[in-house]
Amino acid sequence: MASVHFSMERDIPVISDVDILVVGGGPAGLAAAISAARQGRSVALAEREFCLGGTATGSLVGPFMTCSDPDGKQQIIRGFFEELVRRLVAAGGAEDPMSITKCDGHSSWHVKGHNNVTPFHSEILKVVAEEMCEEAGVQLLYGLQAMDVQKSADGARLTGVFFLAKEGPVFVRAKAFVDCTGDGDVAFFAGCPMMQGATDTGEMQAAGFFFEVEGIDEEVFQKRFEKGGTDAMRYSDIIQRAADNGDYPIPRRRMGLYKSCDGTWRANITRIPDVDGTKSADLTRIVVEGRKQMTAYMKFLHKYVPGAEQTRLVRSASMPGVRETRRILGSFVMNEQSIINGEMFPDRILILSNSRDTHAGLIGCYIPQDRNYSLPYRILVPQGVDNLLAAGRNVSCDRPTLAAIRVMPPCFGMGEAAGVAVSLAIETGAACASIDVAELQKRLQAQGAYLG
Ligand SMILES: Cc1cc2nc3c(=O)[nH]c(=O)nc-3n(C[C@H](O)[C@H](O)[C@H](O)COP(=O)(O)OP(=O)(O)OC[C@H]3O[C@@H](n4cnc5c(N)ncnc54)[C@H](O)[C@@H]3O)c2cc1C
Repeated sequence: MASVHFSMERDIPVISDVDILVVGGGPAGLAAAISAARQGRSVALAEREFCLGGTATGSLVGPFMTCSDPDGKQQIIRGFFEELVRRLVAAGGAEDPMSITKCDGHSSWHVKGHNNVTPFHSEILKVVAEEMCEEAGVQLLYGLQAMDVQKSADGARLTGVFFLAKEGPVFVRAKAFVDCTGDGDVAFFAGCPMMQGATDTGEMQAAGFFFEVEGIDEEVFQKRFEKGGTDAMRYSDIIQRAADNGDYPIPRRRMGLYKSCDGTWRANITRIPDVDGTKSADLTRIVVEGRKQMTAYMKFLHKYVPGAEQTRLVRSASMPGVRETRRILGSFVMNEQSIINGEMFPDRILILSNSRDTHAGLIGCYIPQDRNYSLPYRILVPQGVDNLLAAGRNVSCDRPTLAAIRVMPPCFGMGEAAGVAVSLAIETGAACASIDVAELQKRLQAQGAYLG
């Protein structure tokens, strides 16, 4: 790629000086910032958009995926996630996941791996998230895109992050940092070893573009399910007929309508493969191509799908839906076998049962999980910088593991653990890699996390 030289000699304002800087206000960042602030630290949360929630709000993704054991008997992702959902329910912005037990529109009629999802309202989530930050004393810094880092003279620690703001470049100084950008931007700028997509081909999961519709006749869909089960709910016969007529130009060949808590439906149907979510040209392609697929899908619903003839478009995502980009390469990389074996790591920070969903091919490869497993603290720890943790979909794991743990409830859980851990590091003067994990687990349990 052609390049031009750019250098800038100027003083940059230090707009905040805190104990902990969390970058990225999605599920992981929200949980990290609030959890760190509740440990008594001064915390700033920097986010490039103008709301919290990340993919849950900007990309309109929902519902929150499963938070229970595989049988749906016990809620296992608890702590911060459970508290947030309770507040959303109280504000009329979610349904209690443990009440979502039957196979219906909330889970898009998936029988396996989709029990106890949480339908939520993205606008109410934005409000509740800000209220919770305010109560915890988190300083919100919107409209800031991280663009580089400053390190100590020996290179072992970060001292601050440079952002691009409306007024130009600005700087936030902190003692410790949590990278919740989803793309590992902070760790990448800090020069930490990273992975991206498949190690051999660089392939990444297909991106998507969500939109919201209303006017679905749920009863018609439910009857089709009762007659033909989950297979019928793929709508393969109808999709094939539309494709034969040239009316289905969408690579994803299955229906994907999820009923929300206000009677609208989230459409998880578009598929934009071969994109790199760390490149602005590809991010542009996701939304432009996504809107084309959305338009085609609306026509398809009207013309071919019984019960969806009257569907109306409510709104579409303002942010691209990126499933996979960079992950930190920690000294420990969690692999798929741990999920298969239901491994309970001694340094576990979360117990979950989310299934692997690779988003490959036309339908995707979904491997339902039949037992609980855990996430170890070590996957949050990057190499090369002492005072940085990562949480959310940019942690140290292989691709099949990411295909399971990247969904939102585990991201909240990882963020919560990172927020408490980074506070502990400051409190004890330890490097993030060598904090007292038993103490971290004790604090997580004290705030309601389930660790078995
Ligand atoms: C198409 C699609 C469908 C999905 N379906 C589901 C589903 O049904 N249920 C489910 O639970 N999960 C689903 N997921 C997964 C889930 O939404 C994400 O993996 C999860 O939200 C990741 O959380 P996060 O906090 O790590 O990152 P994100 O939610 O991506 O949040 C990252 C935040 O960081 C900000 N940011 C990024 N870079 C910078 C920077 N340089 N400077 C400042 N801010 C920055 C972003 O604006 C964003 O707010 C889906 C994802 C996609 C893309």
